[in-house]
Amino acid sequence: MANVADHNKAALELLTFYMEAGVDALVGEEPVDRFAPEPVAPPVEARQPAAIDRPPSTIRTTLPPKGVPAPAVAPPPSPDVAVMAAREAAKSAKTLEELKTILGAFDGCGLKKSAKQLVFADGNPQAKLMFVGEAPGSDEDRMGLPFVGRSGQLLNRMIEAIGLKRESDVYIANIIPWRPPGNRTPTPQESQTCLPFIARQIELADPDILVCLGGPSSQTLLGFTDGIRKTRGRFIAYNTGKREIRALATFHPAYLLRSPLEKRLAWRDFLAIKQALKAN
Ligand code: URA
Repeated sequence: MANVADHNKAALELLTFYMEAGVDALVGEEPVDRFAPEPVAPPVEARQPAAIDRPPSTIRTTLPPKGVPAPAVAPPPSPDVAVMAAREAAKSAKTLEELKTILGAFDGCGLKKSAKQLVFADGNPQAKLMFVGEAPGSDEDRMGLPFVGRSGQLLNRMIEAIGLKRESDVYIANIIPWRPPGNRTPTPQESQTCLPFIARQIELADPDILVCLGGPSSQTLLGFTDGIRKTRGRFIAYNTGKREIRALATFHPAYLLRSPLEKRLAWRDFLAIKQALKAN
């Protein structure tokens, strides 16, 4: 008969297997269908007591109770419709706070369904320098803030190395504000749908210098078609919609963690950013 030590060993082996297979988040005992339709609210007299009066285990947010037929599901918006809706929605925001609220309510990007929360921005929205990365990872998804994991820690050290502080001297966001499942690369469609929001975020934050971190960010925002090794380190003009500012692409910190030799080129880029800030 198997004893406790055998059970523990088997459990440990299973966990190791999951980790090596790339599992990085616990999701509970039962699968959750995040694409299931919202439950239809029961008539007022039949409603359960307020959520706050019930134990958390009984609070359902997305799934209808067993046996209740699922209402018809609206088909996802077509790509063009989603991009047009994103443009309209982004344009209607007059402040960054409004943009955050509008983005939080936007259903045109499927990544919202699988992400834990919106990852909008961090740092000082009034800063002269703005960084834009690709998309949140698992740490960012958990905390609701961009660049707080390992690559964020490296970014912080790079910011400090040119004499700046993350909290007061830079504003940080991503092209995509929801974590792609398993940290996969966002699809071109997802990037195009989210582009009007990040473009409006840049316009409203109105930095003097924009820095795109990595190939996907610089391709989406600056229109580069070559790889980051070719396009990095060169200032170009970027029209925010309000005015022309200077923009530069550099390596993504996650790439620098994997390829530390490239840090010398990244260091050059950061010195150029420091110079450009002085000149402004
Ligand atoms: N990588 C990104 O591009 N953005 C983050 O916020 C974290 C990691």
